[in-house]
Amino acid sequence: MINEALEKIRKEIANFPGARLVAVSKTKPAEAVLKLYEEGQIDFGENRVQELEEKRESLPDNIQWHLIGSLQKNKVKYIAPYVYMIHSCDNLDLAKVISKEALKQNRVIPVLLQIKIAEEDSKQGYDIAQLKQELDEGLIEQLPGISVHGVMGMATFTDDQMQVRKEFRQLKTWFEELRSKYFADKLEFKEISMGMSGDYLIALEEGATMVRIGSLLFGSR
Ligand SMILES: *Cc1c(COP(=O)(O)O)cnc(C)c1O
Repeated sequence: MINEALEKIRKEIANFPGARLVAVSKTKPAEAVLKLYEEGQIDFGENRVQELEEKRESLPDNIQWHLIGSLQKNKVKYIAPYVYMIHSCDNLDLAKVISKEALKQNRVIPVLLQIKIAEEDSKQGYDIAQLKQELDEGLIEQLPGISVHGVMGMATFTDDQMQVRKEFRQLKTWFEELRSKYFADKLEFKEISMGMSGDYLIALEEGATMVRIGSLLFGSR
């Protein structure tokens, strides 16, 4: 195997059944994506629509593209035909637009509800109380063009591993609460997307089903 980091991460993830790797290729060229693809990696994550659009043109059609960064409503239409999963659905207006654009493409788009778990104000994500209120009112469940597959979160950027672990544990707790209260009959509600290059092992230990790893695989940005 050419990519030692990929091999190492794969071995680690194999200890956590049900977990998978999303290789985050933002700022890296299509050739870098292709190299990992040739090693059997098909899940890739991008955080900007325009960059994703340009990159995918020259890449194999069966790559599963995950949109992981904050998404503007007016950009949804570009990725609606092909995006595999949107991890960063963090407000009702965006959910509505994704649903509408999906229906135009005769498809249902899998989304994760991004929830704020970090202490910093800058981090994106639903306030959990707001999310629960919208779910109580049935506003998200009733959207026909999206299918909610779980939750996503980003921990505080800190060396304090206990803090990071606490935040991942909180996300897992919320995931279970939401699943039993709102998605008990939805088998597809099973994903917890958490963990990046610096904290993915903690995330896996705390129940991540998807880790989003960039710099460890592709080098620093
Ligand atoms: C960039 C990014 C990642 C990957 O970060 P690394 O530290 O390079 O692994 C994961 N998730 C999101 C939302 C990102 O924007």
